[in-house]
Amino acid sequence: MVDLSSFLADNPYFSAGFGLIGVGAGVAVMRQGARRGADLMRRQLLVSMEIPSHDKSYQWVLGWLSRRGAETVRNAQSNNNSMTWVNRRIAKAVLPRHLAVQTSYKQHDNGSVSTDFTMVPGQGKHIFHYKGIFIQVDRQRNSKMIDLQSAAPFETVTLTTLSRDRQIFSQILSESREFALSQNEGRTVLYTSFGPEWRPFGLPRKRRLLESVVLDRGVSQSIVDDVKDFISNGKWYDERGIPYRRGYLLYGPPGSGKTSFIQALAGELGYNICILNLSERGLTDDRLNHLLTVAPERSLILLEDVDAAFTRNREQSEHAGYQQSMVTFSGLLNALDGVTSSDERIIFMTTNHIERLDPALIRPGRVDLKTYLGNASPFQIKQMFTRFYGQEAAELAGEFTAALAGHTVSTAQLQGHFVMYKKDARSAISGVGRLIEAANNA
Ligand code: ADP
Repeated sequence: MVDLSSFLADNPYFSAGFGLIGVGAGVAVMRQGARRGADLMRRQLLVSMEIPSHDKSYQWVLGWLSRRGAETVRNAQSNNNSMTWVNRRIAKAVLPRHLAVQTSYKQHDNGSVSTDFTMVPGQGKHIFHYKGIFIQVDRQRNSKMIDLQSAAPFETVTLTTLSRDRQIFSQILSESREFALSQNEGRTVLYTSFGPEWRPFGLPRKRRLLESVVLDRGVSQSIVDDVKDFISNGKWYDERGIPYRRGYLLYGPPGSGKTSFIQALAGELGYNICILNLSERGLTDDRLNHLLTVAPERSLILLEDVDAAFTRNREQSEHAGYQQSMVTFSGLLNALDGVTSSDERIIFMTTNHIERLDPALIRPGRVDLKTYLGNASPFQIKQMFTRFYGQEAAELAGEFTAALAGHTVSTAQLQGHFVMYKKDARSAISGVGRLIEAANNA
């Protein structure tokens, strides 16, 4: 009988196979070891920061990277001749190879718009150099996941660098934020609701000066003082556990400057405006509540023409509201009261018909300051006249005001008249009949 073990040992085919298996296993163990080692090294040496596309800093960081990219290209081009070979190689290596285009608009002071294209890092990995540190940017899109808020594919940008340089991330985030904010400096961003979130509507507008909206004596100042007082007293509200919110109602005939004043006020405060149309199709109580809670910081929330959505008769108004949007009157009151948030909330409502509003909507706590903006008073007529024609025409302002005595014109009509006779103050006086006729027919 042949001994099985000695047969196997003596069999050259078997021992070779066994040897191979041994080598294979050894290699596999080594490879796994190397992979673990590399993982360990990566974990120890590298640090990453992931920014998902639904986060605010996502656009900020991409915008900032695009500006850095543009600067790198400009520097590389202008320094090309004076650069050493090594620096040229580095400059080449740090320029992203796969770019995506981002179109931006720039509105000039005269209102005209020009378009600019910037290249932002596209999908994939790029390396950039910042404050002497190399950082990898990895922009990835997950085509299977959709960002429910924006209905866009879910994306992430991951920045990776050596662990000892981790503090650089907070510097990049704050620099990106400052860069993004500086783009809107001196401008007012208008937001409108888009599904459950606020989106900028159109281009940021040049701030409107408060003096450009002429209200009756002391009216503008009293609202500005009230809002500024509210803004500077957050601690007072907090200490007393009072919800930090304030409501304003501007009422009066159309064309009296309600909307313009809110825009100018936002400009004065350096705030933005979130405009919400209560009659918007698809708006529900929940969405309304959510929108008021997530309004961007430093913004005035504007509910225009509140009488159009809800009138004095609640039953009827709920029915009318239902046909346009799904917001109920009680849903609106709840959203205005919103006890959940301790964040600052400033709500402005406007209406041409205060008498149509349900008293519950404008009771103190929901509306803390009600201000009437009326048709042009003699004070406003004089002010607007001198604003248009300058101090040198000041003595004609009285004559113009006297010519309008006993007639009702809105400030918007007045503005239209001055624009028509913009070159000559005297012709504005001689043509006053046209203004009166237009006002009577309006
Ligand atoms: P409202 O919201 O009261 O209907 P708007 O603010 O929309 O009025 O005004 C319409 C137009 O008339 C705007 O172009 C605005 O500049 C002008 N206007 C109205 N009132 C005034 C005012 N008091 N001072 C300066 N401009 C005004």
